[in-house]
Amino acid sequence: MRMKTLMNTILKGGCQCGAIRFEVTGPLPDASICHCRMCQKAFGNVFAPLVSVRGTDFRWTKAEPKRFASSNLVNRGFCPQCGTPLTYEAPDGMAVSIGAFDHPETLEPHIQYGMEGRIGWLDHVNDWPGKTTMEDIEAAPFLDKLVSRQYPDEP
Ligand SMILES: [Zn+2]
Ligand SMILES: [Zn+2]
Repeated sequence: MRMKTLMNTILKGGCQCGAIRFEVTGPLPDASICHCRMCQKAFGNVFAPLVSVRGTDFRWTKAEPKRFASSNLVNRGFCPQCGTPLTYEAPDGMAVSIGAFDHPETLEPHIQYGMEGRIGWLDHVNDWPGKTTMEDIEAAPFLDKLVSRQYPDEP
């Protein structure tokens, strides 16, 4: 029964300003992270979490992303209003940023690509102390007055 529920789940997401939104019917089993240097630069991050939407009913429900051709073969989609990285678009299909989904916790990667670019200190993440945002309020009292302007996650 649980599998059937997952099969019919509509997954939604979009950029941080909400100008771009998307919907796709799950499940989306092909989730990964890519450590390659091109993905690092495209995401402004140390790896790129992406999930393939090849062969699905994926659709943009508001504006479409703008694209940057990061190579002769691949386009990278992003929101021109707020800059959120949204897609990796190759000749064999498209993948979407896992963090752009309203519920990224449901899309667990199961493989790493681009291992030649993997940042060594990623091995140590679980050794570092961790704090919640509100635990940090003494060092950053402005957090008490913070009002998000990001488009909210949908249920
Ligand atoms: Zn945006
Ligand atoms: Zn990559």
